[in-house]
Amino acid sequence: MSKKDSQNLEGLYIVVSAPSGTGKTSILRKVLKMCPNLLFSVSYTTRPRRPGEKDGKDYYFISEEAFKDKVGRGEFAEWEENYGYLYGTSSKTMKELLHLLQKGFDIILDLDWRGAKTLKKNYPGGVFVFILPPSTGELEKRLRGRGVESKQNIDKRLAKALDEIKEIIWYDYLIFNDHLETAVDTLRSIYVAEKSKKERLAYKIKEFLAL
Ligand code: ADP
Ligand code: 5GP
Repeated sequence: MSKKDSQNLEGLYIVVSAPSGTGKTSILRKVLKMCPNLLFSVSYTTRPRRPGEKDGKDYYFISEEAFKDKVGRGEFAEWEENYGYLYGTSSKTMKELLHLLQKGFDIILDLDWRGAKTLKKNYPGGVFVFILPPSTGELEKRLRGRGVESKQNIDKRLAKALDEIKEIIWYDYLIFNDHLETAVDTLRSIYVAEKSKKERLAYKIKEFLAL
């Protein structure tokens, strides 16, 4: 996707970021079920698969060696290290996403703030949403409650959360995930409102303006 391309598309791309444990995956899964035109961008990761996660649907789970080979071949549009694991969006995925945007589909990407910033710089026209926990105490409770991380990993994720939250300043929207259904409704509302912006509908109103 080039800078020029990403500004003149019928579809919309949304990037969602949140400190680990906030509930982003829970929110995205529900919103994706409600919005059939909205597709999820599947990233590559070296992180082990969590219970319930599916290869090719939640992530492409690959070894660190395979990931580094891909980095060496310049196959990532962006990649970052998080909590000792590697995460990245492949250039091939980005090309496929451009094609889908041109066909009128909308795309949602789950990226940390650094990946989000890279996309904001390289592909103008996206909508950037940051999800926050109601409090740091609640974040810790959710990380422990998820029960998939070691204590050491939970501590790493908590320590990082405060740094990540400082980045909210350049995002377009903030959602507090206090009550899950409300947060789901808010993300869906942001999507619907963005789709209704007149700039995005210019291609549809040309005919009326010509009257
Ligand atoms: P993330 O993708 O942001 O790391 P998850 O979606 O895996 O977070 O959620 C972390 C944990 O918090 C899970 O156990 C999930 O069920 C729980 N959770 C998510 N949203 C809420 C909420 N609004 N209230 C209480 N628990 C929640
Ligand atoms: P988790 O292990 O909880 O699924 O994800 C850890 C972090 O990696 C989250 O902040 C998530 O948004 C981020 N992440 C997931 N995929 C990508 C990606 O392709 N690129 C970047 N930069 N971050 C990603």
